Amino acid sequence: MRILLVEDDELLGDGTRKGLSQDGYTVDWVKDGLMADQALKTEKFDLVVLDLGLPKMPGITVLQNLRDRGDTTPVLILTARESIEERVKGLDTGADDYLTKPFDLHELLARLRALQRRFASRAAPLLVHDDIELDPASHTITYKGESLNLSRREFALLHVLLENTGRVLSREHLTQSLYGWGEEVDSNALEVHVHNLRKRFGQGFIRTVRGIGYTIEKSNN
Ligand code: CA
Repeated sequence: MRILLVEDDELLGDGTRKGLSQDGYTVDWVKDGLMADQALKTEKFDLVVLDLGLPKMPGITVLQNLRDRGDTTPVLILTARESIEERVKGLDTGADDYLTKPFDLHELLARLRALQRRFASRAAPLLVHDDIELDPASHTITYKGESLNLSRREFALLHVLLENTGRVLSREHLTQSLYGWGEEVDSNALEVHVHNLRKRFGQGFIRTVRGIGYTIEKSNN
């Protein structure tokens, strides 16, 4: 899962970035509104954490532009504790949730999981697919009732595919959701992760859609 973090406060931004990365997210951090606007125009993110008080372009304008483009990426806004007005305006402009500063990292992580569930129209916290159960909160997977250890990227790949069963995800989307800006990516890195997941769950588990990307078919449970 790839997150765009938009926060101009160095200390808060750095702490949040670290916390999100440790929780397995791929995090791209920008520090002003213009860069956020540009990033959202050109790249695909699974979630956005958006501070409203930003240099160069206000966060509310970044949000407005995103929604004007018809982009439904879930957005959580960060607002000042005292400003009810700001929160109301943010939500009315198309934010999906908010947190007031200072916030607790665990609450942020839980709210982001809730946003992902809602976005995927999924009520249950666990992702269940045939014999696989993936728990995004504890980062655990069980397969046929036994717990499995996957690498961070394999877990992330499985997570994004299971969150989107029945949809074909492009190679570009998948690569972006596993790797942030400035990370070295081998040209066949995605294939290697797909190969490893197929080895564990069967060759037909992830289907290649030639020229486009990959998909996991919907299961009956
Ligand atoms: Ca700020």
